[in-house]
Formats: sequence, structure tokens, C-alpha cells
Amino acid sequence: MPSLSDILTHLGEDREQYFQAVAPPVIQSSNFVFPDLVAFRKVFADELQNHVYSRGNNPTVEILRKKLAALEGTEDALVFSSGAGAIAAAVIGNVQAGDHIVCQKSPYSWTTALLRKFLTRFGVEHTFVDGTDVDNIRAAIRPNTRVLFLESPNTMTFDCQDLAACAALAKENDLVTIIDNSYCSPIYQNPAAFGIDIVVHSGTKYLNGHSDVVVGVLCASKQMVKKIFESELMTLGGILGPHDAALVIRGLRTLPLRLQRSDESARALIEKLEHHPKVAQIWHPFHHSFPQLELAKKQMRGCGGLFSVQFKTESAEQMENFVHRLKRFLMAVSWGGHESLIMPSIGFYHIPGKPEPSLPWTFCRFYIGLEDPDWLWEDLEQALEAL
Ligand SMILES: *Cc1c(COP(=O)(O)O)cnc(C)c1O
Repeated sequence: MPSLSDILTHLGEDREQYFQAVAPPVIQSSNFVFPDLVAFRKVFADELQNHVYSRGNNPTVEILRKKLAALEGTEDALVFSSGAGAIAAAVIGNVQAGDHIVCQKSPYSWTTALLRKFLTRFGVEHTFVDGTDVDNIRAAIRPNTRVLFLESPNTMTFDCQDLAACAALAKENDLVTIIDNSYCSPIYQNPAAFGIDIVVHSGTKYLNGHSDVVVGVLCASKQMVKKIFESELMTLGGILGPHDAALVIRGLRTLPLRLQRSDESARALIEKLEHHPKVAQIWHPFHHSFPQLELAKKQMRGCGGLFSVQFKTESAEQMENFVHRLKRFLMAVSWGGHESLIMPSIGFYHIPGKPEPSLPWTFCRFYIGLEDPDWLWEDLEQALEAL
């Protein structure tokens, strides 16, 4: 097993190929030439390992793939043009018409859409279950179940699934297990070590980490990666370009530093928030009040910058004032970049054509970036006066 430092600084980089440059070049080329027919025939035998055409494999993208596989401790990895693309490829690659998927009940919204709106059109059924209890998952398995989809923790309320128990259950029932590991990143959780088959990420979040690339990652065995490459990646074509790949490689150099900073700052802010009279509840997997604290500590090494808070107020107007008074927290979706964010549930209320959210309007998700936590607290403290 290469060390984290080795993976982030050296692995996959072949500097003799490019003038001993420290930073790998962006091989901005759609296709690659062959000196003769012998070489031509040879490379077509395996488009994943060779360089034929950049929808398949590109040298800059390949460096990134090698690092990501090593980070998750899997044999190989693929990258996609978005996390949603990686999730769709992982799921679609393992089902056919008539199959059934069991999924934990509150995954990322577009994962829900993939199962509900997209795959039902092709005769693939699904059941959402409360995955905090593995017995619920067991009870939902049918003879035609093929895939167990996990997201642990999820990114709003941080519900966890017991990865070792889920992997064992899946083996007994011949299911492919897929987990969305975006919340932890490979720094804080490696699901493959618990026996999970496919680990997917929205690399848009921590892996790139600078809020300037949308990217998806899929880590699995050589055999699984080859299968998904030859079908979903090459057919649907949701690839990552070399320029974006180079940006993600650059982002990875500081991955552990960024995670550690966000993790520590989030805990520092939680310590202040939990004593504030206007705070009703805090959601964070390592918080003493978290119902699955023991499980979270068993399978995760840390949490990163996300947590949620429910505030004490009867007034929606006060809630809106609180949100508007924040100046150093930016209001936005996504997370995992350098900048701290707030995503207030109240923003999802009264949107024309959309159902009202299940989370109360007093609920806010925070993401803590790389800024000084004291500077962030000053902002929160003055905004809390609105409540
Ligand atoms: C953002 C996100 C996704 C989707 O990733 P994109 O890169 O935006 O397509 C999937 N899962 C989780 C948990 C996310 O936060």
C-alpha cells in the first residue's frame, strides 16, 4: 500500500515522459497516432490501458485515475464529467430490465431522481429504506434485487449505514454494493476496506476542493471498472476532459490538509453553537448527541466541514433575517471548496412547481471551508441576533 504522501506527490506521474516537469502536462489531444499496423492492432485490444482516443483514455486523466484508485484502496478507477454521471454509470452498469435496487432512503437528490424518474422507464424497480438499521435493508431484498445503494453519511442529516454489515448481507444475496462516499472523501472513510464493491464520489466537493470543476469518480475492482468503461463510460460518453483532470490533480495535492482544516474548524464552531440559546439541535456524526455516534466512529476517521443546525424560532421572518445577515458565509448549494457556505432549508420553501421540503424551515446546513473559524464565528454570532 503506497502512503498518502506517495499517492498525492508521486503515484501515476512519469516525469521522464515530460521533461521532468513537476506538474503533469495537460495532454489536450483528442486522439493519438500509431507508427504502424502492429501498434494499431495492439492498442485496440485494450482501450482502457492504451491511448487511442480521449473518450477512452487520456494520459492526464490516467494520472488522476491512478491516484484516486490508490486513495480508495481499489484496483482501478474511472472519472466522469460529474458525480451524477459516476453514480448513474455505477448503477446502470449493474442492472437490467426486471431488476430491483435497494437504496437508503435519503441519498443525494439526483440519485433519487435516477431511481425514481429515469430507471423506472427502463423497467428497473427500487425500494427506499431507512438504512440506519440493516434489518430494514434485509427485509427489502427480493429475488430480483441486484444492487444495494448506500450513501453514508448523507449530506443533510448524516444518516449512516453499517458498511461491514451491508457488505456481508450483499455477499449472502449476491448483490453489488455501491456507496456514495462524497461526505467523508477517501481521507476519512474507505468503504472498499469493509467489502463495498463500488465507491463513487462527487469529486466536485472535496477531491477537487476549489469550487471550479464538476467531476465524478468511480473506484472498484479491475473487472468492474473494465465492465463499466466498455459500456457506460464509452457508450454514454460522460468523460472528464484533460484540463479538468489537471485541476483535480492539483486539488488533490492538498486534500488531507483541507479536510483536516475543515474538520477542526467545524468542530470549533459546533462547540460555540451548541451553547447558544437559539440552537435547538446540531447534526454532526461525531457530536455527542448523534444517534449513530458509535457506528460513525467505528467506520470513519473524521467528518470534514459539514454539519446542520436546527434553530429555535417561531418566526420565518426572523429565520430569513438570520440568513440575510450572514456576510462571510455564502448562500449556495454544493460544498467541499475553500469557502464556507450556508444552505438554509427555508430557501426550498414556496418554490413554484416544487413540493415543500421534509426538513423544517428552521434547519440549515453549514459547510466550513478554509477560513479562520474565529472570523466565521463573528459572522454567525452577529447574525444569530436576528433570532
Ligand atoms: C454533489 C453531490 C453529488 C453529485 O455530484 P455532481 O458532481 O454535482 O454531479 C452526489 N452525491 C453527493 C453526496 C453530493 O454532495
